[in-house]
Amino acid sequence: MTLSNGRHMLAIPGPSIMPDRVLQAMHRPAPNIYSGLMEEITYSVIADLKRVALTKGDVAIYISNGHGVWEASLANVMNRGDKVLALASGRFGEGWAHVAKRLGGEVQLLNYGVHKSFDEQELRDALAADKSHEIKLLITTHVDTSSSIKYEIPKIRAILDEVGHPALLMVDCIASLGCDEFEMDEWGVDVMIAASQKGLMTPPGIAFVFANEKAKGMRESVENVSPYWDWKPRLNPQIFYQYYGGTAPTHHLFGLNEALKMILDEEGLENIWRRHETLAKAIWAAFDAWADVQDPAVIMNVKDPILRSHAVTSAKISNQRATPLRIWLEENFGLTLGIGLGMADMNDPEINSYFRIGHMGHLNAHMLLGTLSSIEAGLMHFDIAHGKHAIDNAALICTQHLKTS
Ligand SMILES: *Cc1c(COP(=O)(O)O)cnc(C)c1O
Repeated sequence: MTLSNGRHMLAIPGPSIMPDRVLQAMHRPAPNIYSGLMEEITYSVIADLKRVALTKGDVAIYISNGHGVWEASLANVMNRGDKVLALASGRFGEGWAHVAKRLGGEVQLLNYGVHKSFDEQELRDALAADKSHEIKLLITTHVDTSSSIKYEIPKIRAILDEVGHPALLMVDCIASLGCDEFEMDEWGVDVMIAASQKGLMTPPGIAFVFANEKAKGMRESVENVSPYWDWKPRLNPQIFYQYYGGTAPTHHLFGLNEALKMILDEEGLENIWRRHETLAKAIWAAFDAWADVQDPAVIMNVKDPILRSHAVTSAKISNQRATPLRIWLEENFGLTLGIGLGMADMNDPEINSYFRIGHMGHLNAHMLLGTLSSIEAGLMHFDIAHGKHAIDNAALICTQHLKTS
C-alpha cells in the first residue's frame, strides 16, 4: 500500500515549488492588456526584478523559458563570426555555448567536466592571449544545474580586469537568482539571464535578460537582431505592448508580481539567501553522514562547499541505484527527485546512478527534512549502505539557524 497520498513534493531543480498565493494570484479573469492594471504591474515587476538582480541596468521580459533567453541575450550582442569564450562545468554551460555556436559565434569552450570549477590560470591565459580583443563575449553559468557547481563570478570579473580585457561578462543565473547570493552590478556582470520557474517561484513561461549600459552599447554594433528577440523595443517601448513583443503574459505577471512581493517586501532577499544556505547545509550534513561508512555508496557530486549551489544538489548512488530509489519514492512517498543530468551519457546505464535534489524557492525546514527522511527510508528499503545520524545532523543545522538571527 502506497503512502503517497497527501500533498506531493516536487524536489526537482525547476519548476520549483510554487506558493499557493502565487497560484491564487493567477486565478482571475484576464485584464485589459493595453492599460490600467497591466501597466501598473509591468512597472512594478520591472522595478522589483531589478531589485532582485541588484542592478541599475535594464531588464527585458520574454515569453519563453530559459532556453529562449540563452538565445535572446546572445542575439543582441553578437554578430556572426564573433569570438565567444565559454566556461562550463556541466550541461547548462555547454548548452549556452552550443546556442552561441548555432547563432554563428566562433566559440572557444573551456570545459571543466562535471566535478570541477573553472581554472583561473587557464582563463587568464586565454584572455591574455587575445591581444587584439577579438573575444567579444565571455559566457558562463552562476550555477550549473546539472552538476550543481557554483562559479565564483567575482573571480571571473577580477581576471577580466586584471588582464584588461573588455569582453562582455554574461552570466546564466536561471538556477540561482533568488536562491544564492548574486549582485549583478557589484560583481561587474554586464548581462544576466533568469527565468520565472526556479528561485522566482512562478510557473515556467517567462524569462528575463538584464543588461547594463555597456551591454546596451554593444547592441548598437549588432547588424541583424531577429525582431522577436530584439531587446530595444522591450527596454524602451513606444507603445505598451512592445514590452512583451505582443500580448502580455497576463497571468504569469500576476503570479510573478505576487512572488516578488513575497521575496522583497516580506522575507527579504538576504533572508532568502540565508534560508537557502541553511537548507543546503542541512542537505550536506545528511550526505556527509550517509557517506560516513567504508566504501560509501551515497555521495555528493561537489566536494568543496564553496563551489556548491544552495539551490540544487547533484549526487550519486553507486551501481545504478538512484533511478530505482527515485521511482520508489515517487510511487510510495509522494516525493519526486530530479534525474541525473549530464553526469553520464543518457544512453549509458550509469546515468541511473545519479539524481538531484532541487531545494529552491518556496521551501521550508520541514519540507526539506521530510525530503531527507524520505530518501533515508529509500536507502533502508534498497539496503544501500549508509552512515547514521543524517537526519539528526540536518535537523541540528536547521535549529542552529534560528539562533543566528
Ligand atoms: C533550468 C536552467 C536552464 C534552462 O531553462 P529552461 O526553462 O528549461 O529552458 C538554463 N540554465 C540553467 C542554469 C538552468 O538551471
